[in-house]
Amino acid sequence: MQINKCMGCMEDLTQATCPVCGFDPKTYDKPENALELGVILDGRYLLGAALSVQKGGISYIALDLRLEKTVELFELIPQGCARREGSQVIPTGDGVEFATLEESFRSGIRKAARLEAVPGCAHVTGLFQDNGTSYCVMERLPGDTLRTQVERTGPLPWDQVRLLFVQLAQNMQAFHQAGLVHCGITPDVVRLTREGAQIVPDLFSLRMPGEEGNLHHHGLCGRMHPEADAAPGRPHGLEPGRVPVFACGQCHVPGSPGGIGSPGYQPGQSDDPA
Ligand SMILES: [Zn+2]
Repeated sequence: MQINKCMGCMEDLTQATCPVCGFDPKTYDKPENALELGVILDGRYLLGAALSVQKGGISYIALDLRLEKTVELFELIPQGCARREGSQVIPTGDGVEFATLEESFRSGIRKAARLEAVPGCAHVTGLFQDNGTSYCVMERLPGDTLRTQVERTGPLPWDQVRLLFVQLAQNMQAFHQAGLVHCGITPDVVRLTREGAQIVPDLFSLRMPGEEGNLHHHGLCGRMHPEADAAPGRPHGLEPGRVPVFACGQCHVPGSPGGIGSPGYQPGQSDDPA
């Protein structure tokens, strides 16, 4: 099968360097542990470039060859309890920790699938196993994360931050109406798209009201990002149905002095949105 797609954006390719996104496979800086460009997973998904590396795994752009649609894949390869060998993900130690995380990950995907009708968030469309691990298939939301944007441009103007805050609060309300609480709102899960601020759910951070997080000892729950970990007064569990306001704050504070991307920023100093 001849596939002429840009591995950076999955648009049709007519020349070596993509005219749409500028991606060039020769200069692609593949993150350590990421899969090679162009592999096919589950007999269906053509894998493109890695989009981000998180503590729980790696997200990639991909093409669903059946539907001919661009999607995002999240591959579970949690740091500290799994390693890459060829294309395979191999649990380290006795494998119990990896198995526990994989179960939580799959449970998170099933919860996220309940957000089907929720606007303002990437919709989960599939779950499969390959290479000894699990993968989540998600709608592709074009746009940068809030973190990437702020790192590139510096702190955002207050008016823009205020708009983001309102949009995210509305998104959170929709999550709650769908019976879920998102305990991991950070600059990495907020995507700035043409439609405004949208959320790519952190699959380790979705809770039913009253459900305890149990991944703290793995360093994954609410701790995928240093800001979340370092926020003073961070509640260890989540009270049923409550929005983690500190998390919203740490997302929006990038727009203010002392926020992410501003001079002198230190994780943990920016948990006060005021
Ligand atoms: Zn491209």
